[in-house]
Amino acid sequence: MSRLDTVCNSVAKARELYRPMSPEIVLTSSFRFGSFDEYAKSCNDEFDSYVYTRGTNPTTSLLEGKIAELEGGERCKVFASGMGAISATLLTFLRQGDDVLFVNTIYSATSSLLKYMERYGVTWSSISSCKTDVIASAIKASTKIIYIESPSSQKFELVDIEKIAKIARVRHIMTVIDNTWATPLFQKPLNHAVDISIQSCSKYIGGHSDIVCGAVISSKKLIRQIEEFGFLLLGSTASPLTSYLALRSLRTLPCRMRTLECSVKVVIKFLENDPRIKKIHHPLCGDAWQRKLAVKYLDGYGSLLAIDFANPDLDRFEQFINSLQLISVGVSWGGFESLVLPAYRKTNSETVLKRGLDLTHVRLYVGLEDPSDIVSDLSYALDQAYGSL
Ligand SMILES: *Cc1c(COP(=O)(O)O)cnc(C)c1O
Repeated sequence: MSRLDTVCNSVAKARELYRPMSPEIVLTSSFRFGSFDEYAKSCNDEFDSYVYTRGTNPTTSLLEGKIAELEGGERCKVFASGMGAISATLLTFLRQGDDVLFVNTIYSATSSLLKYMERYGVTWSSISSCKTDVIASAIKASTKIIYIESPSSQKFELVDIEKIAKIARVRHIMTVIDNTWATPLFQKPLNHAVDISIQSCSKYIGGHSDIVCGAVISSKKLIRQIEEFGFLLLGSTASPLTSYLALRSLRTLPCRMRTLECSVKVVIKFLENDPRIKKIHHPLCGDAWQRKLAVKYLDGYGSLLAIDFANPDLDRFEQFINSLQLISVGVSWGGFESLVLPAYRKTNSETVLKRGLDLTHVRLYVGLEDPSDIVSDLSYALDQAYGSL
């Protein structure tokens, strides 16, 4: 008989008595080695074996395999958040003296990160145009990375990804894209010569507003470099429980995306003929060139858009937001629930205008509710704030 402390603490050795249908949540920090030789081999090959969950975990590996395949990349690394994925990527490849070229409106936390990196001698420049020749002319001798979001945050404008990636490649500049809006189902940037694709899995991939998670997808070679530094040493590791929830959500990603695409078309159809709306920001509502790019790159349409109101009055704008009954006010998106997020927050007018946005710019995420209920809610709030038609 073992002593009580030993009974409490000895490792439970599971026998293979069952074969679960859904993946196991391997909730362990470290892994046991069967022999000295196995220990030596595993530790010498830590990215392809299981040693410690800060590096690799079987539940997370399953998720990485699936996301890599969906994006058409050789490898994927999953992180504790989208920002974990973005910061690990940028910190891995940028050196003192390098410049990052941001194209168009990008996720605001990403640009904030680069402002901090000025401390380490990394600079950034941004170009607010989507035109390929204008973007190309913004390249400097020190440009190391061209960072793209297409469709972009807030304005949902596309750029000619492949042309930009090819121009960059000739000049030995790395291209990184944040592909969160389209998901790997609706856009595959790696097939268009982009080097690295990033997903915030907190959005559509997670899909249920219950996880924060991120992923980087690229070649074996580049992912290995990220693993060695940005991943393993900066330590933004996803919990196996989070990876499990993302795996579970991936099963319904295609169904959800198909439904959301139909719903966003219904909502846009309602909004586009309303004189109280000044502009709809969505790839379906762009000019002829934007729509051509959408046909070239997108296999479907995401349900995140933005609208500007014709009436600039901010009290009425506030009334519109407050009159929404079904649609909640909140950050993030990609879950089951429809959301609005006004760019203007009462004290930040200058920042909003500097980003090239109207003060009445509001992001709208169309969720999984019945689209006719979403339209009714918008219609009611429009009537309350701006008067009925
Ligand atoms: C949310 C988001 C991120 C950041 O992801 P987190 O998981 O919240 O860290 C990055 N890019 C885009 C486009 C996003 O919407």
